[in-house]
Amino acid sequence: MAAKHAGEPASVRKWWQEPVIILAHQYDAVMSTEQSPAAIERLVRWKRSLGFEAEHLLLNHSMMEGSVGGDDAAAYLFKNRHGYRQDWLARYLPVAQQHGLRVIAYFNVHWFKTDTFPMDFYCLDSSGQPKVAYGSGYGVCPRGPFLEWAEELAEDLGRYPIAGVFLDGPGEDTCWCAACRRKFRARSGAELPASAAECPPELAAAFAAFPREEAVTFTRNFARGLRRHNPEAILYCNGIADGGDGWSMAATAEVTNFIGAEGGFIGYRPLAGNFPFEAGSAAKVLEARAQGRGRVIFSDCGFKKFDYHAHPKGEIARMYAGTIANGASPWFLVLRHAAKTGGIRAAVRFNRLIRQQRAALTDGESLAEAALLHSPVNLALAGKAEGGSGDDVARREAAAGCLAVPRHYREFKGLYAALARSGYPFDVLEEANLLAGALPRRIRLLILPGLGAVGDEVAGKLREFVRGGGRLLATFDSTLFDQAGRRRADYALADVFGASAEGEVLGPSSLDYLAATQTNELTRGASQPVLPCPEYWWRVRAAKSARALLWYHQKMPRRYAALTPVSKSPAALVNKFGKGLAVFIPSALGDHYLSYRFPDERLLVRNAARMLARAPVELSGGDEFVEAALRRGADGAVVLHLTNWASGERPATRAIPLGPLGVRLRLPRGFRPRSAELAMARRKVKLSVRNGWACFALPRLEEYEMVVITKDEG
Ligand SMILES: [Zn+2]
Repeated sequence: MAAKHAGEPASVRKWWQEPVIILAHQYDAVMSTEQSPAAIERLVRWKRSLGFEAEHLLLNHSMMEGSVGGDDAAAYLFKNRHGYRQDWLARYLPVAQQHGLRVIAYFNVHWFKTDTFPMDFYCLDSSGQPKVAYGSGYGVCPRGPFLEWAEELAEDLGRYPIAGVFLDGPGEDTCWCAACRRKFRARSGAELPASAAECPPELAAAFAAFPREEAVTFTRNFARGLRRHNPEAILYCNGIADGGDGWSMAATAEVTNFIGAEGGFIGYRPLAGNFPFEAGSAAKVLEARAQGRGRVIFSDCGFKKFDYHAHPKGEIARMYAGTIANGASPWFLVLRHAAKTGGIRAAVRFNRLIRQQRAALTDGESLAEAALLHSPVNLALAGKAEGGSGDDVARREAAAGCLAVPRHYREFKGLYAALARSGYPFDVLEEANLLAGALPRRIRLLILPGLGAVGDEVAGKLREFVRGGGRLLATFDSTLFDQAGRRRADYALADVFGASAEGEVLGPSSLDYLAATQTNELTRGASQPVLPCPEYWWRVRAAKSARALLWYHQKMPRRYAALTPVSKSPAALVNKFGKGLAVFIPSALGDHYLSYRFPDERLLVRNAARMLARAPVELSGGDEFVEAALRRGADGAVVLHLTNWASGERPATRAIPLGPLGVRLRLPRGFRPRSAELAMARRKVKLSVRNGWACFALPRLEEYEMVVITKDEG
């Protein structure tokens, strides 16, 4: 997405509109407040020596102390009207400033000790009992007296020349405290229901929206307090990128300067078999929601749960690569006792790279020409269909009104993985971007990953896109349901797909097949004509205008039966519509690839994307291991990010070096290259330019390389 501030000269640009390298607040297993100026200076120098330019600074250490969890509200380390332990910030801040380290105060606003506030500050459950958080300590309610308390504290904190505040919280839980009951009554004219189950249908929307809308009020009020004396202070919160609906990120756009998500918090379960592209996908989703704000990907060197044990180099390099290759800034948690590990040394090297290439990374607009849709609408419906009652009957009723087999998120991840592993650059967009008419002109291909539920308005935008010459790739049940998840008579885009739905969803099955019996644009390169059929699929009737590229085999009766003949039912269609073109694959191909990783399934996805829109980057010699992102910096440079995914089992100790790689990339119109540099390897590379494409050989790719092609202004 075009950043709101793109093209502004550096003098106008704010510091947070450039890449910022942020150190997480918890670098020591035991937090301490260094008291002597010399000790503070040593600490700050250590932070700077790792290449960090900003930090989240913890200004209350009581959370880590005592037998009860949460903060002590009188233990702050800066002067304020509510209570503090010592004015340590006044000592620390001048030293940090002297060494060029920006201080962003980390501020917990959701978890406090049980005796630190009057009872009306805490979140209550519907029986009136305070809600315990993280097993010990209470949640505080951002709608009660804590709202005003926090704004006053923010005002006092804003008297210090800090760079800004990161808010951890506010809580969006439903709460039954006196303030919540009163505010709900004032908004909706009814009593706050005791639970979602007891909520009358006419109040359901208000019941769900109330806590999160009031949490946004908290963030706004906090910003107002903070900026009363420090108008330049930035503010941001933690959020959920992919898999989340982005509601709070949109609602706080006016008062926040960054949006952030935990793309590099990995290891909650053993890593083997996990989706490895988390940092990159979070950064891509955040970019779709930024509205001119900076994006921060939170990465933790610690293996989550085993928080004090750091990941190896391969994992950490890929967190950083996914972050900067998609225009986000890193927030990184360093463990001091692990500072000499390969992983943290890799982080330090990335920090240096970001500083050296700041101009090329600033305002890095993507040059991708394809976009994968991430759909909050479908995620919400899937939650209702899958997360409802545990009772069989109720679940079937819910599912009947709410998609047949919700597969959007798995399709998204599967197609994401297939495109990333094919070196095919792409962005992520959401329905909101389409509805806002914010589709960048460079986007020639839109990909709908099992986008079952699509409202009429979004369908209309997609149809116009294709009619005007755009390309569309859609999988599984895309557009068969309206935005409430109700089945339509046919696909909303049946005319665009050149296909009509027949019957009900088929599956689950893991013994059926697709027939790649004809070599065409989609099947070229397939290793064999009999390919696994995804777990779920639909039969379709082709329109006269459509051409079949792939077929289903007739259904297998059982295992160890003779292979069934090829059916007449198409499993992929290409259709001309207006000036554009659509490929429709009515099976959950991405979902299947995510589970099984059949190389031929990746090939189908790659071929489908390529036949619809030739990628602006073409790689040879990288097999299925090199991800590519192409962007443009504020200084006009074209920047190619290459990430190497070849390695053994996860956690990946490192990438297996690849090379030489042949690289071809399409230069923006009128762009004449002056020089090209391999920024990580720190050496020049010789380009040859023909017909607007630059070609070069990359001798060796370790975990990551950034190729910076500067513009000849002469
Ligand atoms: Zn409350």
